[in-house]
Amino acid sequence: MSAAMATAVARLWTPPRMRPPEVCAPEPAAAEKWPHSLVIALSRPRCTTCRGSGYARLPKEGLRQPCKCVLRAVFRECRRQWWRGKMMAYNRWRMTAGRGRKGGWSVPALEYVADFERLARSVLTRRKSAYGDLWPLFELHYLRGYEWRVCCWRLRISRGDFYHAAYVAEEIVGRACRELLPYPLHPIYPYMHPRHK
Ligand SMILES: [Zn+2]
Repeated sequence: MSAAMATAVARLWTPPRMRPPEVCAPEPAAAEKWPHSLVIALSRPRCTTCRGSGYARLPKEGLRQPCKCVLRAVFRECRRQWWRGKMMAYNRWRMTAGRGRKGGWSVPALEYVADFERLARSVLTRRKSAYGDLWPLFELHYLRGYEWRVCCWRLRISRGDFYHAAYVAEEIVGRACRELLPYPLHPIYPYMHPRHK
């Protein structure tokens, strides 16, 4: 490319307009459960909703909540830990303190697996999205590991509906993992090592 042509191309091309990230104080309750240091670390820089800031504004209430990209990132971390527990790679017995100095033994990784599955089932059962029931889809795809073709065939839904419903399920379970009380499933390290809270 000649120098004159390069100059002409540079004149024609204009950089895409990007909205600056919204830097505003979040809702007080959301700020407690979803601190800014967490959401900004988990957000996608190219997210079209939050532009990497991690917070999104609810259209009706006008309050700031963690963006969907943050909820899905939390879900992916928790599911990764669930998978490690399923594979028995990091399962170790751990002694826990009990009443009267009588300790007990536990396997935190397996407890995490059970808690994750039970939590997902409780928040997704009887919950419907615009694309169908969420729990059967979640169980087939995320817990049993069937790919989207099998899930679409079993649930009689299209590929587009399957992925839309999967995203909704990820956001619901990701939020529940973080906001579960008294022992949230995210962050994972305090759950696996309770003495280091
Ligand atoms: Zn986002």
